[in-house]
Amino acid sequence: MDDVKRHFSICSCHSAEHTVHWNYDPAQRIKSDQGNEYDWPSEVWFETCVSWNQSFFKRCWNAVRYIFGHRSNYGHFDCFTLEKSEAKKLVAFLQDYVNEPDEISPV
Ligand SMILES: [Zn+2]
Repeated sequence: MDDVKRHFSICSCHSAEHTVHWNYDPAQRIKSDQGNEYDWPSEVWFETCVSWNQSFFKRCWNAVRYIFGHRSNYGHFDCFTLEKSEAKKLVAFLQDYVNEPDEISPV
């Protein structure tokens, strides 16, 4: 987990809530406590901020609405707009992952 590389994509609206955190954990050979070696495959995942800074009463109101099956007209999604300059940075970030061999070569 220490080798995880991170990239942050910022929405063109510059809202702090519209930030995507990309994570790339390259494949690695791991040695267990018993001395066995095994391959850990590479992974890429992203994290995004979900609105959380609402008052207690607003959260209670949302809970009541949820219990009664209320659904937002927009679904439970928000948007993120990736400008071309940010897309280029993301492509450069993902290039290492794409170029990584599918299997780890033996030592
Ligand atoms: Zn935005």
